[in-house]
Amino acid sequence: MCTTNSTNQPPSSPHLPPLAPLTALTPTTTRIIAPNPGPFTLQGSNTYLLRHPSSPHTATLIDTGAAGDVARKWVEMVKNVVREWRVGELGIVLTHWHADHVGGVDELTKMAKEENITMTFHKYHTPDPKSSINSLEGTQFIPLHDGDRLAHLDIITTPGHTSDHICLYDPHTHTLFSGDCILGHGSTVFENLTTYIASLRKLLSFLPVDTQTVLYPGHGDVLPDARAAIEGYIRHRMEREAQIVGILREREGVAGVDEIVKVLYPDMPEGEARLRGAARRGLGLHLGKLRDEGRVVCRGVGGGEVWEIVDRGSV
Ligand SMILES: [Zn+2]
Repeated sequence: MCTTNSTNQPPSSPHLPPLAPLTALTPTTTRIIAPNPGPFTLQGSNTYLLRHPSSPHTATLIDTGAAGDVARKWVEMVKNVVREWRVGELGIVLTHWHADHVGGVDELTKMAKEENITMTFHKYHTPDPKSSINSLEGTQFIPLHDGDRLAHLDIITTPGHTSDHICLYDPHTHTLFSGDCILGHGSTVFENLTTYIASLRKLLSFLPVDTQTVLYPGHGDVLPDARAAIEGYIRHRMEREAQIVGILREREGVAGVDEIVKVLYPDMPEGEARLRGAARRGLGLHLGKLRDEGRVVCRGVGGGEVWEIVDRGSV
């Protein structure tokens, strides 16, 4: 059975620079990192607290980190900042449904009650029910739509990492909050390569051409040039696709999935079952795209997956 509708592939593992848990990036934007570091979350989940330039007691929070102990530690940091800013109204935007972005909703709700802060939660409600949530533990999320403006932020729907993923653009500071669409280090994971690439191209067309946009990712450090980062991601995917086609060609047009994974990730330790599984799924997404384009076919041989170039002249 040749499955290609999977969710993850391994990010690259660069040596990550340490990041402070709490950083005032600008006078109106503070980054608070949930303490959940890992191979997929890098230094932890970034959340961003934005103070409204014209309404100082109103703030927007982008994402909420992971649940449990992580959320309890994270929410203490949030509390300190909202107290300092004397926030009375807090609008929370969730970039997508993954647990490392929505896990802090419960702790945040408790904190807001204690601090007497009015809160509203906002999220894009995708028509695809498979990979989305529209409420959590009794908290309903107000639906966002492509092109909406929440506070001073433009909402851009960017499916691909998940079908409900959004990015946010701040036209005053020329900042793109990219969620997990683009990360601060290495490459990201996605569940649909075709929609993911389309979203990257959509972001490129959205960003102003005459002003450099700063990128604040869902994980990892700030990137000074969002356009360059997005172009790099598109280039990386296209190069990966060409590499996979090249591996098939070198094997007379036919290769098994495990064989291709070994060539793509020569340094991946054998014991890393989670990363290896993710690598297989990521490869499956590339092969699925090539199959959808009529360039390869999948044949099951002895229970394994074998992929074959359809027309060697066309790939
Ligand atoms: Zn994430």
